[in-house]
Amino acid sequence: MPWKDGKKWVYSITYDEGCEDLLKYALPLHRKYGVPGHVALVASQVGVPRNCPGSSYDGMMILSKAQLHDLFQEGWGVSNHSLTHCGVTLENGGREVLEARQVLEETLGMAVPMFCVPGDNTGLPGALKYAEEAGVTSILTIYDRVNTRDTDLLHLGRVPLHTEYPGPFYSVFDPYKRIHQAIDAEGWIIDYCHCPMPDKPVHPAKDCTTQELEQRFEKVCEVGGDEVWLAEPNEVVDWILEQRGKI
Ligand SMILES: [Zn+2]
Repeated sequence: MPWKDGKKWVYSITYDEGCEDLLKYALPLHRKYGVPGHVALVASQVGVPRNCPGSSYDGMMILSKAQLHDLFQEGWGVSNHSLTHCGVTLENGGREVLEARQVLEETLGMAVPMFCVPGDNTGLPGALKYAEEAGVTSILTIYDRVNTRDTDLLHLGRVPLHTEYPGPFYSVFDPYKRIHQAIDAEGWIIDYCHCPMPDKPVHPAKDCTTQELEQRFEKVCEVGGDEVWLAEPNEVVDWILEQRGKI
């Protein structure tokens, strides 16, 4: 019994920033394929336009508390994507990790034990330094790899689902990306997107299109059948912690 209910592998997907357009361009596909979603939220920017100059998503409206609670009712989950998205360092982790968790929990009225490193993986050391103090039980990175039941929960990898990888590779969208590896390893894919859009992604290396997102969900369901656990990341972490507690 590798995973909950005897499932052989796990598929999750996360959307950094939590743009309101997910309701239009991703949520209908989640309902159609029975995949729960997850948003990583900048704690100081819930229900307001994103304020992160230089970001491809700057100015886009972020989901409100009410919209988020509707999504939670459908099985979606949330993580703490720092206080300002300006980067986590060994010096500012008290604010960007610990204070961010407090602000987000106060805003949403719920526990948020998962942290999602903003920007790139250079913020991981700062996040790790403050994880224990902030009560963080898992950390999402953008190391492109499949997780397993034995993965360190403070180093969770994600598998970017994008239209085109940056140069010098320029590799194209692959709806099967890491799926067969996950099956072989009895692993856990956490997909990574921001806000898929029809026909053209906001950023080709940070997103796919809505059509590609559907192709991906189709492949996960077609190849995974009854053997894939379609799960929200916090649910998987809770399950892993429960299993480890039993040993
Ligand atoms: Zn981000």
